[in-house]
Formats: sequence, C-alpha cells, structure tokens
Amino acid sequence: MGEGEVGMSEFKGVWVFSEMQDLMLEMLTKAREIADKRQSELAAVLVGFNVQDRADELIKYGVDKVYLVDNQTLEHFRLEPYLSVLHNLVVSYKPEIVMVGSTRNGKALAARLATRLDVGVAPDCNGLNVDEQGRLIGERITYGGNAVAKIAFRVKPCIVTVPSRVFEKPEPKKQDGQLVKLDVKIDESKTEVVDVKPLETSSVRLEDADVIVSCGRGLEKKEDKVLLEELANVLGGVVGNTRPLAEDRKWFTEWVGLSGHKVKPKLYIACGISGVIQHVAGIRDAKVIVAVNKDENAPIFEVADYGVVGNLYEILPALKEALKKQLQ
Ligand SMILES: Cc1cc2nc3c(=O)[nH]c(=O)nc-3n(C[C@H](O)[C@H](O)[C@H](O)COP(=O)(O)OP(=O)(O)OC[C@H]3O[C@@H](n4cnc5c(N)ncnc54)[C@H](O)[C@@H]3O)c2cc1C
Repeated sequence: MGEGEVGMSEFKGVWVFSEMQDLMLEMLTKAREIADKRQSELAAVLVGFNVQDRADELIKYGVDKVYLVDNQTLEHFRLEPYLSVLHNLVVSYKPEIVMVGSTRNGKALAARLATRLDVGVAPDCNGLNVDEQGRLIGERITYGGNAVAKIAFRVKPCIVTVPSRVFEKPEPKKQDGQLVKLDVKIDESKTEVVDVKPLETSSVRLEDADVIVSCGRGLEKKEDKVLLEELANVLGGVVGNTRPLAEDRKWFTEWVGLSGHKVKPKLYIACGISGVIQHVAGIRDAKVIVAVNKDENAPIFEVADYGVVGNLYEILPALKEALKKQLQ
C-alpha cells in the first residue's frame, strides 16, 4: 500500500513548485481553478536563496500561502537537496495535489518525489481537470502525438508535471497571501557543483518569442541558416527548427515540438518542414502559421493559415526583401 493511501482525506491543498518563476506563475491559473473546485487552498513552494522577491510576486499573483525555504545551499537547483526539502514538506503538510513545472529538473524531481512517496506521477500534462467525482484528471499527448491520455490517480498526493506556456499567467489580484518561512532539514548532497555555465542558446527563449522562423530538413546546409536568420531579423523574431536538425545534424541544441519546446508565437513560419504530428504538437498554440514547402501535399499545409508551395531558397530571400520594403 502506498504512503498516499493511508487516510486519503487528510490530504488537502494544491501546491505548485518550479525552479523557474515564470512557469510557477503560469501554473497558478490552473492551480487556482482546481483549488477552488476542491475547496482547498493554493500554496506555492519556494526553494532557493535570497528569493524574497519571488515570494512577494507569488503573493501578488494570488497564492494563499508561500512555503519558503531560503538557504544558501539551495541557491542553484540540485536534485538531492531540492528533493529532500520537497519530500519533507509534502510529508509534513500532506497536499492533495502537487504541480511541478515540467523542466528537465522538474521532471527528474517529480519522478523521484513520487518514488519516495510510493505514488504516481502524470508527466507533461497539457490539461488538468477535476471530474464529477472530484478526482484530478491529467491529460497528456501520447502515442507520438496521436492520442490524448486521461490519467486519474489511485493514491495521494497526485503529482503532475506541467510544461511551460500551457497555461497563461493570471492577472495579479488579491495580496493577502501568507508567507510561511520554514527551516527544513536538508539532506547532505552526494554530489558537488564544480562549475555552472549558462547553456549557449539564442538570446530569446523560443517559448517567449513572438515570431519564429523555423527550418526543417528542407534546409540543405548548416550555413544556410543565415536565410532564416535574415528573415527573423527583419521580423524581430528568432530561429527555430525541427528535431532532426538538432539531434541528427547537430546544427542546433534545441527544437520545437512534442519532445522539445512548445511555442506560442504570434507568427510561426515553417520552412522546409513536413509538419508531422510530433512537430505540429509544439506549434498548436501559434496564432498564425505560414508554411513554405516545395511539396504541395506536405501535411504542414493542413495546419497552416497561409501556405507557399515553392523552394525555400527562392521564397525566403524574396519574402525578406518584400517585407523590408513594406517596413521601410
Ligand atoms: C517520439 C518522437 C518524438 C519526436 N519529437 C519531435 C519534436 O519534438 N519535434 C520535431 O520536429 N520532430 C520530432 N520528432 C521527429 C518527427 O517524427 C519528424 O521526423 C521530424 O519532425 C521531421 O522533420 P522535418 O520536417 O524537418 O523533416 P522531413 O519530414 O524530412 O521534411 C522535410 C520537408 O522539407 C521539404 N523540402 C525539402 N526541400 C525543400 C526546399 N528546398 N524548399 C521547401 N521545402 C523543402 C520537403 O518537401 C519535406 O516536406 C519526433 C519523433 C519521435 C519518434
């Protein structure tokens, strides 16, 4: 029997946790809706060092409570100490639902937390609802993007992870949330951080970009990225790409799609991208999709708002020049 099965009714409250403040704020919208349906409180767990400003912001965005663990050893995310803190808090306060931001760190943390508690975890939920019986139902895309799995939980706490940009940040509102400063026992870490280096990526996160000019295997050489960069510069956007360009060709470190970044730009220009479901799953929330592909039967045209059938090597320079003239 799982730890969570003992006295199920004693589990109460919805918690959000992420080492990324933006993601934490985004989760609050859904967390508040669920907390209201479950008639319970919404709390954020804040772990770090000198993070009072983050706590103030969470209160501004409407959490009922912030559990704050502020300690120098927690300055940078490390799995073992963060896990030890979160586990201690969950065991002490028994939340019913724990929403963890689905970053690489968050996913590792949620899986280990679930293992320690002997409960389940629903990863990468794009939807969360409470059914008629009051159960939390997590929804996640599965079978390579061809189906949506609905997941209910047998034991509590219910742990889910939520990717960024799935939910909108709420409007700031009431500010009467309570700050609970905690001095939690932190287990010794078996690892030591020797150095921290930022990952070299484009200056704007793909998730935050308003315009993305994206390329796929239609791009023949790495140097041809300049075509995309030039168009992106004219539009004030960034360059994105499909997974094979990162994983197979190593031209990029990240990619857009089901297993990569889910993006939400105002404009997504897909160049030389076939538009299979795994890529499209990451661009569903784009406001306008423009596709450039030489194959008129490419599936990308099924999701595109505007389509250009043609060779990207001719279309992109022409598009850039036309836009430059328009914007002058
Ligand atoms: C579990 C799993 C997860 C995955 N996750 C992702 C993911 O998150 N993101 C992702 O992108 N992929 C993902 N994939 C890979 C995915 O299945 C596809 O293989 C990939 O998206 C195809 O990339 P592409 O469109 O660049 O290439 P292709 O499918 O090869 O398409 C290239 C397109 O370029 C067109 N083209 C060629 N030359 C030109 C030209 N000169 N001008 C104009 N058009 C041209 C062609 O007509 C074709 O449509 C995943 C796969 C699996 C199994």
